Amino acid sequence: METQVTDTLKGGEFLIKDSDYRQVFIPEEFNEEQLMIRQMAADFLNNEIDPIRDRIEKQEPGLSPALLKKMGELGLLGAHMPADYGGMELDTNTNTIISEVFGALGSFSVPFAAHTGIGMLPILYFGTDEQKARFLPGMIAGDIKAAYCLTEPGAGSDALNSKSRADLSADGSHYVLNGQKMWISNSGFADVFIVFAKIDGEKFTGFILDAKSPGISLGEEEDKLGIKGSSTRQVFFENVQIPAETISAATSSVSCAWAAIKWC
Ligand SMILES: Cc1cc2nc3c(=O)[nH]c(=O)nc-3n(C[C@H](O)[C@H](O)[C@H](O)COP(=O)(O)OP(=O)(O)OC[C@H]3O[C@@H](n4cnc5c(N)ncnc54)[C@H](O)[C@@H]3O)c2cc1C
Repeated sequence: METQVTDTLKGGEFLIKDSDYRQVFIPEEFNEEQLMIRQMAADFLNNEIDPIRDRIEKQEPGLSPALLKKMGELGLLGAHMPADYGGMELDTNTNTIISEVFGALGSFSVPFAAHTGIGMLPILYFGTDEQKARFLPGMIAGDIKAAYCLTEPGAGSDALNSKSRADLSADGSHYVLNGQKMWISNSGFADVFIVFAKIDGEKFTGFILDAKSPGISLGEEEDKLGIKGSSTRQVFFENVQIPAETISAATSSVSCAWAAIKWC
């Protein structure tokens, strides 16, 4: 007798709920497109990463951004992103196949994940239409590289303890950003920083900043024990100006508003 298929399990529900064998995704059922995409990801790994692992580990200048650009040309930076912005808009199973192959990227997995995850997704989830149209196509193509600046010396797990602040100028025309971030992946080469700071020391807010904005400076590369191929630095903001009119409506439970400064 046919049993009833249970609802699709979400997140970690597989640990506490019964599952159904028909919901289990197995390699034997990959379709032609999934097999092609898996091969493309494997070719990238074998041809572009494997031969230069030692150079990646030495963090050769320019290598990570160049590899991201190559991935962008293959569509691999936007596999999970909407087609409207140049992404492949692939289903979760296919993205999982890509992730499985890229589990072997070694320390280059951090530049890749920081750019495609914490770098790109805040704009997709919380950006205005104008911000999405302005940044996502370039990020998906690999022309704009992203870093995500949340952690501070006194605010890691407890991110809301952040001390970075953005204060409205006396004439109301712009916010003035001051603060310090640390352990920021991709900061050595990123073009765009997603930065979290508190407006007036209270409203925790995300900003999209041009990494070349006056008042932004970087610490030295961290001499890490592992994942040496990834750029990890401190980022300092000293009186960085953000035009006030670019702030959009509050969008999330931590009352994130998103602002974009002028992008040249
Ligand atoms: C290589 C690397 C790259 C990184 N890249 C980025 C980046 O790109 N952008 C960015 O913003 N940050 C980045 N980080 C920072 C990372 O997100 C933080 O290290 C992380 O959030 C933990 O913060 P912390 O290091 O201050 O540790 P803490 O918050 O001080 O935690 C220390 C330990 O205490 C535990 N702990 C903390 N609070 C509690 C609690 N309430 N109950 C029980 N246990 C607790 C934690 O699990 C941890 O084991 C990076 C870090 C590293 C090492």
